[in-house]
Amino acid sequence: MSENRNCLVCSQAASGGFLEFSQSKFGVPLCLKDQQWLVDLEPICEPEFIRLFFEFRSRGVKVALENDKASGICRIRMPMAGISVFLDNRFLPKSLQEGFLETRKSYSRQNGKVEVEIPVAEAFLNTARITKRTVELLLDLLEGEPIEANKKPLPYTYRLPSER
Ligand SMILES: [Zn+2]
Repeated sequence: MSENRNCLVCSQAASGGFLEFSQSKFGVPLCLKDQQWLVDLEPICEPEFIRLFFEFRSRGVKVALENDKASGICRIRMPMAGISVFLDNRFLPKSLQEGFLETRKSYSRQNGKVEVEIPVAEAFLNTARITKRTVELLLDLLEGEPIEANKKPLPYTYRLPSER
């Protein structure tokens, strides 16, 4: 069974032509419906945050990317774990290490809450490489939560609109 035949968002099998087109344009294989979904979302959510979403998906994590129309905030939701990740523009750590530590503390402080919100800083998402590191850190943080992550990521990296 080849993963290439499945959409990275809905996991449904899709016809090869759509997936190939999507992969060459967006860097990730998507069915026609989810290509449209992405095109609608790109003007609303920060492209770097969308890249974070696809990094979670490439590790098999059951996440949804949602835009709250009232607040304009985009969130990566992990519904089974009651967790969401959001980009906090006021979160300006001096270094990545310090920032990751701050995120870890924020997660611990919310221990026991029904809905846990995990902040990430823009600096966590600067490049594709740093974003992959951020996902590894978050998966490490969320170990034991019902999020179904695979150890081995699929080889897809979302291409930002500026990289196409
Ligand atoms: Zn799809």
